[in-house]
Amino acid sequence: MRWAGQEISNQAGDPAALPGLDRLHNLVRSVRTPEFAGITFHEVLAKSALNHVPKAAGLPFNWTVNPYRGCSHGCVYCFARNTHTYLDLDAGDDFDRQIVVKINIADVLARELRRPTWTHEPVALGTNTDPYQRAEGRYRLMPGIIAALAGSGTPFSILTKGTTARRDLPLLTVASRAVPVSMGVSIALTDETIHADLEPGTPTPRARLELVRAIVGAGLPCQVLVAPILPMITDSDEQHDHPRRDRGRRRDCCNCVRAAPASRCPRVVPALPAPPSPAVG
Ligand code: SF4
Repeated sequence: MRWAGQEISNQAGDPAALPGLDRLHNLVRSVRTPEFAGITFHEVLAKSALNHVPKAAGLPFNWTVNPYRGCSHGCVYCFARNTHTYLDLDAGDDFDRQIVVKINIADVLARELRRPTWTHEPVALGTNTDPYQRAEGRYRLMPGIIAALAGSGTPFSILTKGTTARRDLPLLTVASRAVPVSMGVSIALTDETIHADLEPGTPTPRARLELVRAIVGAGLPCQVLVAPILPMITDSDEQHDHPRRDRGRRRDCCNCVRAAPASRCPRVVPALPAPPSPAVG
């Protein structure tokens, strides 16, 4: 393995490991590489893959799969940031740069989907962290996940900001012949200056619009998720007309920013640009 020389820790409990990694009892190793400067990947063996969503969450799906914890896309408004604190990692820089990678997730998922009790309810990906964040270019976990879902007859949806998804469009097209597959691309804003401030690790909005075209061109249904809408920052008609005009889009939906406690952490709030002064007179 080319990364072996970059290994910085190989077991939970190692004094050199980050404090919260003691909670990752299934940690295989932690890795840094020059291709991902500033990011540490913590490779773990997942015990389970399917997460059941409580009814109280009020979400339109009951099952999710998350191959990664943390997200190098680094959106300052991300509501999932708080989940990193469960590992004693912080919801700011650590969420962006300490990425947990479930290297065996496809095998575990395939095993769970073979259970006689599995009811083949739709499974949602991209609901907590982005499955096509930069790490996916290296770890290639999604092809195995897609194959496991399609092979078991389980419908699924993927929501992403990651243009790495282009790589899997042929596989997704094949999967869609076996099960319903729906794609969603999140484009919360189109102003490039605001994008650099709020979504510093994501592909540009223009690149994501191109991804929408590629998905539709591959014959797959695609939604554009115009979310979150940030009051006084990204709620103008101009901001939202552009994705709406995109010819590749089939449907769109939106929601206002969910001000989870982690999104108000000290790292996050200063990154939000000041809202424009209200017009007077
Ligand atoms: S892409 Fe999604 S999961 Fe990743 S940081 Fe942005 S909002 Fe969070």
